[in-house]
Amino acid sequence: MNSAESQPSAKQPSKQFIAGAVCSVCKKIDGVRFWRNSNQYFKDCVYCGHSEQLIEETPEAQDTLSITIKQID
Ligand SMILES: [Zn+2]
Repeated sequence: MNSAESQPSAKQPSKQFIAGAVCSVCKKIDGVRFWRNSNQYFKDCVYCGHSEQLIEETPEAQDTLSITIKQID
């Protein structure tokens, strides 16, 4: 009972297509894939090969705009 199917140790993240997503470069639809690598998110396009990292929203990134208005006479 030796199963030769050993899982490859290569850390290949599973990419999944985003339904209805439009590539920002070639404007083609349903060609954009999305995957996660540790704490970072990426997406790429199967048509033109464009890939980019997505900025993850962190709660600490919520900057409250403090506007100081100085009245100068
Ligand atoms: Zn594209």
